[in-house]
Amino acid sequence: MMSTSASAQLNKAVKQQYMELPQGDTVQAMYIWIDGTGEGLRCKTKTLNAEPQTIEDLPEWDFSGSATYLSEYSNSDMYLIPKAMFRDPFRKDPNKLILCEVLKHDRKPAETNLRHTCKKIMDMVENLHPWFGMEQEDTLLGIDGRPFGWPLNGFPGPQGPYYCGVGADKAYGRDITEAHYRACLYAGVKICGSNAEVMPAQWEFQVGPCEGISMGHHLWMARFILHRVCEDFGVVASFDPKPVPGNWNGAGCHTNFSTKEMREEGGLRHIEEAIEKLSRRQSYHNRAYDPKGGLDNARRLTGLSAPVINKFSAGVANRSATIRIPRAVAQDQRGYFEDRRPSANCDPYAVTEALIRTCLLNEEGEEPVEYCES
Ligand code: ADP
Ligand code: MN
Ligand code: MN
Ligand code: MN
Repeated sequence: MMSTSASAQLNKAVKQQYMELPQGDTVQAMYIWIDGTGEGLRCKTKTLNAEPQTIEDLPEWDFSGSATYLSEYSNSDMYLIPKAMFRDPFRKDPNKLILCEVLKHDRKPAETNLRHTCKKIMDMVENLHPWFGMEQEDTLLGIDGRPFGWPLNGFPGPQGPYYCGVGADKAYGRDITEAHYRACLYAGVKICGSNAEVMPAQWEFQVGPCEGISMGHHLWMARFILHRVCEDFGVVASFDPKPVPGNWNGAGCHTNFSTKEMREEGGLRHIEEAIEKLSRRQSYHNRAYDPKGGLDNARRLTGLSAPVINKFSAGVANRSATIRIPRAVAQDQRGYFEDRRPSANCDPYAVTEALIRTCLLNEEGEEPVEYCES
C-alpha cells in the first residue's frame, strides 16, 4: 500500500461540482511568498472585484511573519508586494497566482527576500540581456517520507534503467510530471521540458530561457505548482539535494547562462572569459548555491555523478565538471554554458545574482560588492 495523505483520499469528483459554480465578476487571487526558511512556500487567497490586467492592479497585502519563521510575535505583520502574475491552473481563468516579495514592517526586505538585491543587480546589466535556463530536479516522496513507489522494506533495483525511462517498473509517478507540465503551460510559466531522472521517483523539469529577474519568478512559480499538484495526488515533492544517502543520485538545479554577446557569432570567447572568472571565485558561489550556505550541497557534490564541491573544472560535454559547455555550443562557437553546482533547493534569485556579479560585474573575492544607489 502506498502511503498517501488524508486529503488525497477526499472525493475529488465531488469537489469538481463546486469548482464549476459560476463566480460572477469576482476573481480569486492566490498570493504566494517564500517563508523564513528560504525554501518553503506559503499562500493565501483574496477576492478581487475585477480581473487584474497588470501587476499594478493588485493590492499589497499583509500576513503573519511569526507564523512563517519570518519574525518575532511582537511586530509580526509583514507586507506582501505582488511582483509577478500567472493564470491559476487549479481554479482556472479568470483566477490568478501572484508571486510576491516580502517586506518587513519598516518596508525593508525580509531576510529571505533575495529577490530584492537580485533585481538591483539585474537592472545594472539589463543592456547585456542575460538569459538563464534552470533544470529543476525533484524527488517524489510518500507522506511517510520514503521515495514514491519504493518497496516498503528495501530498495528498487540499482540505477541504470530509470533516466528517461518508460514503463511502470522504470518511471515512478509520471502522472505528477504530466499534470505539472500542463499546469505550468496553462499558467504561463516558461517550462521548456521534462524527463525522468537517474534515481527512481526523481524527475526533472526545465524552465527557460528567461531574461534577468524573470528566471526567479518563473522557477519559484513552477515549484509552487509542483507542490500544489502533488498535494492533489497525496504525495510530496522534495528539493533536498541528497534525499537518499549513499549510491543514489542527488538532486541539483543546473543553471544555464548566456548574454547577448555569448549568443552572437564567435560568442564562445565570451563564454570562456566568464568561466575563467568563475574558476577564481569558488567559495562565494558555493555559499550562494543552497539555502544553508553550502552545507546542504556538500552532501550532494561528492564527485559521484556530480561535481566535487571544492574542485573547479570545465569542459565540453563533460557532465562531471563544474561547468559544462554543451557540445553543440562548442561546434557553433556560440551559445551558453551550464553551471552544474546549484542545489535542487537553491534560491534562483541568489544563483542568478551570483553569476552576474562574477561574470559580468567582474567581482572577485569572497564577499559581494556593495554598490551605491544611483
Ligand atoms: P541537459 O543536457 O544539461 O540535461 P536540458 O535540456 O535539461 O540540458 O536543459 C537545458 C536548459 O538550457 C534549459 O533550461 C534551457 O532553457 C536552457 N537554455 C537553452 N538555451 C539557452 C541560452 N542561450 N541561455 C541560457 N539558457 C539556455
Ligand atoms: Mn537536464
Ligand atoms: Mn538532470
Ligand atoms: Mn544539465
